[in-house]
Amino acid sequence: MSITSGLPTGWSPEGFDAIVVGAGYAGGVCARRLAEACGYKVAVLERRSHIAGNAYDRLDDAGILIHEYGPHIYHTTNERVHQYLSRFTEWSDYQHKVLANIHGTLMPVPFNHASLKLAFGEEKGERLYQKLVATFGENKKVPIMELRSRNDEELTEVADYVYENVFLHYTMKQWGKTPDQIDPSITGRVPVFVGDDDRYFPTAPHQGMPADGYTALFERLFDHDLISVYTDVDARDILTIEDNRTKICGMPYGGEVIYTGPLDELFGLDLGALPYRTLDMEFETLDQDRFQPVGTVNYTTSEDFTRITEFKNMTGQVVPGKTTIMREYSKAYTPGSGETPYYAILEDENLELYRAYRKRVDGVLNFHVVGRLAEYRYYDMDGVVASALELSDDIIDSSH
Ligand code: FAD
Ligand code: UDP
Repeated sequence: MSITSGLPTGWSPEGFDAIVVGAGYAGGVCARRLAEACGYKVAVLERRSHIAGNAYDRLDDAGILIHEYGPHIYHTTNERVHQYLSRFTEWSDYQHKVLANIHGTLMPVPFNHASLKLAFGEEKGERLYQKLVATFGENKKVPIMELRSRNDEELTEVADYVYENVFLHYTMKQWGKTPDQIDPSITGRVPVFVGDDDRYFPTAPHQGMPADGYTALFERLFDHDLISVYTDVDARDILTIEDNRTKICGMPYGGEVIYTGPLDELFGLDLGALPYRTLDMEFETLDQDRFQPVGTVNYTTSEDFTRITEFKNMTGQVVPGKTTIMREYSKAYTPGSGETPYYAILEDENLELYRAYRKRVDGVLNFHVVGRLAEYRYYDMDGVVASALELSDDIIDSSH
């Protein structure tokens, strides 16, 4: 493997069997599999100055390992994904826990048995909990929008409390809309949990942190003789799509192209910009050992930011007398502003626009799109890896 900043003089795509745009999970998994299974020489073009996409982590000035683009906690139910990634890292057994700051009281989220008792008092909380158990069963996940649809006085009381105190203000901050106005799958990511488990991902059999961090995982993923990574290279400067063909450096390119960036950017946004939410991340290093009791505290009834993450609580790193925290502020993404498009906005009109762009690339020979940006999906890391494994299966099959 080599990682080079910029393309060397005289670089030509002809020396490569595949060009991968983006050095995140989608690009990383495809590059590795095409190198390993097909013996392809692969060039990875990445416009940032580092690998690992949004999972990138690094030491800050205080020596604390931070996640530059937001807190990343690995969790999956997908055995294949877990086996694949485990080739490139060991895992810590970190179990992510989140507390919601509700009018100054910290309660577990997903809202669970303990949260009910904190919100309603011991006796009433227990009664309401037993009602939830009788209705949904124990250790069950109940999306807030489903709970709200139940026509029962006690369930409605719980639903109203959780909707108002956990979801409404947080969702307004994150999406600029109420939970009723956004796709139910989004709030469904954090369902009420009818049980005692207070982990953020109560049913994921595999969860944790890569033992040496995410960037180290990616260094091993790209560590293959047939892979060359070029950072600080915006593929749009050399790659175009014309007449259903990919051109690179002005010449038709006959190899495989895997594109993991936003689709609208490929066409200069000519059908309109795909809407995204972006985040301002405000990092702060404090002269104290610890700031908060868990990895993340969600501010669900107050503040302009959505959540505060304390990295040492997630990585287990020991740095006495210092800790780094990060506040996230969500806002609409402005294309061309240098902001990062973090979250696709899953609304009919936007999905239709996405499909229009998608149509233009689907017919392009040997051109493949994969990943959270390129598929305009709300993927977690494991979802992207699964999608990249599937795509690379297809390319590998068709290469034989
Ligand atoms: P990316 O990581 O975005 O990589 C795409 C890469 O392509 C980028 O590096 C980009 O610079 C590059 N690129 C784009 N266009 C071009 C171009 N024209 N030329 C060259 N390079 C280009 N998932 C979890 O499982 N757990 C979590 O806790 C979690 N937390 C998250 C928190 C936040 C705030 C966000 C935004 C996401 C989180 N995710 C989490 C999701 C996770 O980040 C993604 O699923 C995953 O990183 C997506 O990988 P990707 O390769 O599709 O995209
Ligand atoms: N959500 C909320 N309150 C919370 C946690 C989540 O309203 O305390 C909603 C909010 O709309 C958020 C969505 O659930 O965008 C998904 O939350 P998740 O933590 O999965 O978001 P991510 O980590 O991807 O930003």
